[in-house]
Amino acid sequence: MKIKIVGLTKKFPGDPKKGIKDTVAVDSLNLDINDGELVGLLGPSGCGKSTTLYMVSGLKDPTDGQIYFDDEDVTFLAPEKRGIGLVFQNYALYPHMTVYKNISFPLTSLKLKENKKSFKAERARRLIEILSNPEEIADVITAVEKDNKIKKNDAVFALCSHYHISKLLAEQIYSYKLHISSDPKKDATKYVSAALIDVEEEKRELVQQHLILADNNDILKEDGTPIEVTRKLTKDEIDALVRDAARLVQIEQYLDRKPAELSGGQQQRVAIARALVKKPRVLLLDEPLSNLDARLRIQTREEIRKIQQKTNITTIFVTHDQEEAMSICDKILVMKDGKAMQEGNPQEVYRNPSNLFVAKFLGTPPINVFNGYIKDGGLYIGNERISDVNSSLDDKNVYVAIRPEGFIIDNKNGVFSLDCKEIVTMGRDLSLICSSPFLVSGKIKIIIDSDLKPEIGKIKFSIRPTKLYVFDGETEERITI
Ligand code: ATP
Repeated sequence: MKIKIVGLTKKFPGDPKKGIKDTVAVDSLNLDINDGELVGLLGPSGCGKSTTLYMVSGLKDPTDGQIYFDDEDVTFLAPEKRGIGLVFQNYALYPHMTVYKNISFPLTSLKLKENKKSFKAERARRLIEILSNPEEIADVITAVEKDNKIKKNDAVFALCSHYHISKLLAEQIYSYKLHISSDPKKDATKYVSAALIDVEEEKRELVQQHLILADNNDILKEDGTPIEVTRKLTKDEIDALVRDAARLVQIEQYLDRKPAELSGGQQQRVAIARALVKKPRVLLLDEPLSNLDARLRIQTREEIRKIQQKTNITTIFVTHDQEEAMSICDKILVMKDGKAMQEGNPQEVYRNPSNLFVAKFLGTPPINVFNGYIKDGGLYIGNERISDVNSSLDDKNVYVAIRPEGFIIDNKNGVFSLDCKEIVTMGRDLSLICSSPFLVSGKIKIIIDSDLKPEIGKIKFSIRPTKLYVFDGETEERITI
């Protein structure tokens, strides 16, 4: 499903009596998200990411602007009517419930509007379908054999997972023992006949009530029209959905545990399963990894990406961690003070930042920023002419930003001198910590190949043109040189 955000604005009113000003948390935000895309809202704390997500979810009303899901205007639609799955950073699992109950919980209150169906016929016909290939059933069961033994639980688990059926139906199929039968085909035929009898019986019962059983298991009126019903999900249906969601995030084996008996990463997967179980149109993730340690964060973010690709659900992912957003998102939106700073493919935004804020926000170690100026067709830092620039550019003060990987040691022809204070080995690379009176803030970090043998003291560098960016000294917007 596509999402379109137009001029979205959220103003939190202040309190003039206490001298508290209004806060414009989100300011005229526009964003187009394609069907199945994973989009990262990225920016420092307080930039309006969560507020944007809450407005998309319906938990907060916008002050202005519109939100569309495909062509439907959902701006003021109640959250439960939007078809969204939400995952927050603190998981918000119910501690007293098992994982199974936690995942099934959103389904228990779900009401379905649909044509009335015969569950008896549906179950019997699904059974007949599965029994049409008894060898396959035997293969699924024997695949869980360990030390010449097959545990019933493992077999039932495997059947649920293979056929996407409830535990109850899987237990019934297991009880047929087709995997140890001397003639599985003959046995299966026997059970198929029994299931067919169930269908016929159901047909007869319905006829007595002046109703018809259709081939798709719908119950029709005598004139052939369907009967619309609002109903809750059956236990069987809930079971199959819970197992499907649990399988997707690989926590099937923990369904009977309580959240406290799981690791942080596993708990987060439960939260994701719970968000996915209602088959939402949109998945909204608010800093879902921030409670995990570094290793688990990386692992879980990759899992989220895989799950998102498998389900193809349009997803918005809020994070302040640029590496996280860069590594899994199809598109990122960098925000500052409620406004969109830049939007696009993560690599593209990294390579082509349109303003100083974005250049500084993306990249580890961060970009090195110097005070510089343009004069007579040249770009200067201090007295050193770093590069030529387009001669049509006016003389002005600028920010010169150079990525850590943009420096080449060149003591003969280098154009930029820095004082190297420290050399740190980082795996295959060396990190040079340097100083310059023209640095705007922080420390200068330069990454070079460890084969080079730099020394502490003054070093001259030449600069890779693709790693050098110039920004207007006042507007901080990019200047093409
Ligand atoms: P973080 O990464 O810290 O969660 P964020 O980018 O998600 O931050 P928001 O939570 O969207 O930022 O907040 C945006 C701005 O709106 C902040 O300045 C915040 O203080 C303000 N804000 C959020 N909720 C309210 C509220 N209920 N009343 C007043 N101001 C609010």
